[in-house]
Amino acid sequence: MPAAEDSSEQRWQALPLRDELRGQHPYGAPQLSVPVMLNVNETTYPMPQEVVEAVTAGVRKAAAGLNRYPDREFTSLREKLAGFLGHGLSAENIWAANGSNEIMQHILQAFAGPGRSVLAFPPTYSMYPLYARGTYSQYIAGIRGEDFVQTPENVADQIREHRPQVVILCSPNNPTGTAVGLDVVEAAYEAGDDSATMIVVDEAYGEFRQAETPSALELLPGRPRLIVSRTMSKAFALAGGRLGYLAAAPEVADALRLVRLPYHLSALTQATAEAALDHASALMANVERIKAQRDRIVTELQQMGLTPAPSDANFVFFGGLDDAHAAWRHLLDDGILVREIGIDGHLRVTAGTQGETTAFLESLRRYLS
Ligand SMILES: *Cc1c(COP(=O)(O)O)cnc(C)c1O
Repeated sequence: MPAAEDSSEQRWQALPLRDELRGQHPYGAPQLSVPVMLNVNETTYPMPQEVVEAVTAGVRKAAAGLNRYPDREFTSLREKLAGFLGHGLSAENIWAANGSNEIMQHILQAFAGPGRSVLAFPPTYSMYPLYARGTYSQYIAGIRGEDFVQTPENVADQIREHRPQVVILCSPNNPTGTAVGLDVVEAAYEAGDDSATMIVVDEAYGEFRQAETPSALELLPGRPRLIVSRTMSKAFALAGGRLGYLAAAPEVADALRLVRLPYHLSALTQATAEAALDHASALMANVERIKAQRDRIVTELQQMGLTPAPSDANFVFFGGLDDAHAAWRHLLDDGILVREIGIDGHLRVTAGTQGETTAFLESLRRYLS
């Protein structure tokens, strides 16, 4: 029996865990509850009422059939996702899962694994090393240039050096907010020719990109090792619905069928995602509002003498703070939660509604004065 004073952590650490899990902690930003939550890049607008009604009707219909397993091929959902993406894609180009987190896990289960490696470029999404760990793959932390910029030459050289089985380019990148040019994706793909490397572009924030920034979807024709990953968690305001997806050559989706668990997408998830897709235009109207607040944050932070990075996402990464933790604390005392990302003098803030953005900017201005 464990001594009464043993913490729960001491108790689970005493279990026969895999060696690489020993001493690790579960991933997750603190889920504090404050009036203005700008820390995990959710859409902060409430779900439009027409979407609430459509989801409810779809789920009600699906509920009547819950005695049966769902459509394992989620064909109707894949058709709608292809229609939303355009670019001449059809259902056979699409794969979906419970969040793009599960999409990435499927990709690494199929293409990485023991004795194989995954290359990504920090600072980037902190889940990438955890997907690698969970699939027994080696994680290689690549290197970025000055101001975290990635150039075609730099990325290609690192792929030729490491010959990884999978490369993840996060574009727009979390936490820096900036997208890479298509020249970087093309160079990565070519550099991976020799090693037959799968190139994954994580476009979780793709819908928020600036008008002049293209999507890597444009590069899919003729590139069977290219995968573009998307999610409904951000632009579709569906973080709670858990629906991620990818577009790629049909054979990529076929390969992923080898590793998915049976019926991994519940009938309720499929119905929810389909209803949201049927109302994409109402949801994309909020995306435009969020983009306006995002651009406003960049402009006003510059006026405050801070150094925001150009953003193609629904958040802004900014530096120039003497003490990022003190600024974070001041904002929290004002009821505003932003994200500390462990980079000196920097914070990341999600673009919220106009009111939330004003509250953030005014609080930060008070802190600086
Ligand atoms: C938020 C985010 C995701 C989304 O994950 P889901 O599992 O789809 O909610 C994926 N990639 C990046 C870089 C993100 O920031």
